[in-house]
Amino acid sequence: MKRDGHTHTEFCPHGSGEEVELFILKAIELGFTDYSITEHTPLPKGFKDQASGEEDAIITAGMNAGDVDYYLKKMHQLKKKYAKEINIHVGFEVDYITGFEDYTTDFLNEYGKLIDDSILSLHFLQGAGGYRVIDYSPEDYQNGMIHHYGTFQKAQEKYFQTLLQLVDADLGIYKPKRVGHITLCQKFQTFYKDEETHLSAESIVLIDNLLEKVKKNGYELDFNTAGMFKPYCGEPYPPLQIMKKVKEREIPFIYGSDSHHVTDVGRGYQAFKTL
Ligand SMILES: [Zn+2]
Ligand SMILES: [Zn+2]
Repeated sequence: MKRDGHTHTEFCPHGSGEEVELFILKAIELGFTDYSITEHTPLPKGFKDQASGEEDAIITAGMNAGDVDYYLKKMHQLKKKYAKEINIHVGFEVDYITGFEDYTTDFLNEYGKLIDDSILSLHFLQGAGGYRVIDYSPEDYQNGMIHHYGTFQKAQEKYFQTLLQLVDADLGIYKPKRVGHITLCQKFQTFYKDEETHLSAESIVLIDNLLEKVKKNGYELDFNTAGMFKPYCGEPYPPLQIMKKVKEREIPFIYGSDSHHVTDVGRGYQAFKTL
C-alpha cells in the first residue's frame, strides 16, 4: 500500500486551480494505491465578521459553501472512474475553530455518510482583532499572533493548547480521526531573526499531553511533508524530534503531501519511508 492521505483540488481557493483528475493521474503514475481527497471545508456563516488580518487570507481559506454538493458528487464520480487503478477516498480537511463547534458538527452530520476519510486541522486561532489564519504569510502571522501573544513561543504554545481542545472536542460521530499538521505554527519559524522559534519547553509538555490524548482516543496523525518545501520552515509537520515520540507511543501516522498543485503529489514521500 502506498497512500497519500492529504490532498486538495480545484475547489480550493488558494490552490493552483488545476483539475483534480490531473492530481489523480499523477498519483497513479507515482504508484500510489490509495489517495485521499481532503478539500478545506467552507467557513462558518458569519465567521468573516469575527476574523481579522489579511482579508485575502480569510476569504481564500476554505471552499465555497455552495460548491460542497457538486464537490462531493464530482469526487465520488472520479472514485468510480479510477477504481481499477487507485483507491480514492473522498473527504475533507475539516477546520477546527473554537466557538464554532456546533457549525462543524452540523456540517459533519449533514455530509458524514459521503465521507470516506477526513482530517481535522487547526488553521485559525484568536489573535489581534479576532480570529486569525496562522499560515498565510510571515507578516500576517507576526501582526496577528506574535505581537498579540508577545513572543513567537507564546503564540506557539497557544497553538498546542488549542490542539488539546481539538482532540477533546465533541463534534459528533463523524469527527475526523486524523489530526492535521500538528506543528503548522512553525511554518515561518526561520523568518523571525530576533525570536526564539524552536519548540519551547512548555510546548514540548503540551505536545506530550497531546500525543497521550491522541493515543488514548485512538486517533492518528497527518505526517505532512508540505513544511519541508516552505522557505521558512524546512521540516515536516511534525519534525523528526516529535516523530520519535509518535513512534515510541505507536501512534499511527499517515503520509500527507498536502498537494495544492499537481507537482506537489508525492513530495517528501521518501522522508516518510525512512521514518
Ligand atoms: Zn490549503
Ligand atoms: Zn491544512
